[in-house]
Amino acid sequence: MLAVAEIFYSIQGEGTWTGTPAVFVRLAGCNLACTFCDTDYATKFFADPAEIARRVGELGGACPTVVLTGGEPLAQAETPALIDRLRADGRRVHLESNGTIRTELPADVWLCVSPKERVDAQMARRADEAKLIVDGRIPEEHLPLFADRPTILLQPEGNKPANVALALAYVKAHPRRFRLSLQTHKFIGIP
Ligand code: SF4
Repeated sequence: MLAVAEIFYSIQGEGTWTGTPAVFVRLAGCNLACTFCDTDYATKFFADPAEIARRVGELGGACPTVVLTGGEPLAQAETPALIDRLRADGRRVHLESNGTIRTELPADVWLCVSPKERVDAQMARRADEAKLIVDGRIPEEHLPLFADRPTILLQPEGNKPANVALALAYVKAHPRRFRLSLQTHKFIGIP
């Protein structure tokens, strides 16, 4: 059984897939405790992969994309089984991870790694998308791990003006490699 915080149908508000409809499965629990974290990832209910897949279909119908997020989705042992179940249903799985828990993933799973206090080098190499959170500073210490990434997203924490200004200045100073990622769903008040 997996511990689940919430399942909902919305759009991806940030990163490469901004604007894409997706069913979000927020798995409960995290192995880190970031000071700025404002995500409610407490357990609300338990469900097995089949039940979660059923709920995804109920909410999203034919929506092809499912975003597994958290908390840290890879902190739960049954997450790979959930990924397989969703793929068997023909869903495209996007996984949002802090990149600390080394896990083999099918090649068609889109992996977004957003490093916090540390990140596993293998997970950084596997990432399809690197999303660095700007919270008062640019976390340049993570950049060597993403050396082969053509594009790195800088996302201002909480859309705060000071963080936006910092990220914007950095992106403009490094136009070939960095892109600004804003949490657009918060602009329109949707989850
Ligand atoms: S890794 Fe993400 S979910 Fe976990 S504590 Fe940090 S910000 Fe929150």
